[in-house]
Amino acid sequence: MIRKYKYLVLRRSLQVSLMFLYFAGNAWGFTFLQGNLSSSLLLGFIPLSDPYAALQMLVAGAVLSSDLLIGVLIITLFYASIGGRAFCSWVCPINIISDASNYIRRKFGFNKIQKKQPASRNLRYFVLFLSLILSYFLGLSAFEFISPISMVHRGLVFGMGFGYGAIVIIFLFDLFVLKNGWCGHICPLGAFYSLNAKFSLIKVDHDVQKCTACMECKEVCPESQVLFMINKESKPVLSGECTSCARCIEVCNDDALNFTIRNFKGEKNET
Ligand code: SF4
Ligand code: SF4
Repeated sequence: MIRKYKYLVLRRSLQVSLMFLYFAGNAWGFTFLQGNLSSSLLLGFIPLSDPYAALQMLVAGAVLSSDLLIGVLIITLFYASIGGRAFCSWVCPINIISDASNYIRRKFGFNKIQKKQPASRNLRYFVLFLSLILSYFLGLSAFEFISPISMVHRGLVFGMGFGYGAIVIIFLFDLFVLKNGWCGHICPLGAFYSLNAKFSLIKVDHDVQKCTACMECKEVCPESQVLFMINKESKPVLSGECTSCARCIEVCNDDALNFTIRNFKGEKNET
């Protein structure tokens, strides 16, 4: 039973702890982690910056400070080499909302009613591209201006305002309109991290010999298209769209899915 929720408990603990640390930094001057998800300071001297926010600033014409660039480098290298798209399932507060929506959809069988998704998951890459074009022409960070992630994060740390609206809209949209609608189809930050995650070292591995084709993993996966190899062949999930949430590992009763360190040499024409 505990094994079934091990990673979920770890993810929620990290998400809540980070929010608490940001709150403590703002409310009580606690210096462990200060700032916000776009730009923070760890231990009072290590800058951490959201590379997508920085990219928008850059195309909008801003001159980036050296601290910000170092922060961008740290975060980009961390997720590109180890973390993959883990920001989405281990850090971002919106993930709690989309997971809740997804859970209710499964519980009430909504997924069986709406079998065909009415929108492509590639829409998010278009939104990402569009946000950069808009940033260029408007001279400001276009997505940061309307980002529900910032609204919710600011809300949790500084007091809710628009944050409530963002939570309700994403929850209802994911529940009634589109499965994993925001995170899996629209969010440009998730799209950015998907591209960045392509070569990260930690991946989920599938062992077809152990698989009994129960398909529980595909049922819970927020990006089920990345699990195309289930019950077909043994191969790791190489797509950067995998959020490393580990739900597939937790629900697999056959031990057919596990985290692994990537073996680049053994990969031949895998996507
Ligand atoms: S897709 Fe966007 S909103 Fe969803 S978890 Fe990732 S960064 Fe957060
Ligand atoms: S493949 Fe597994 S770890 Fe990756 S997103 Fe899906 S459920 Fe999460």
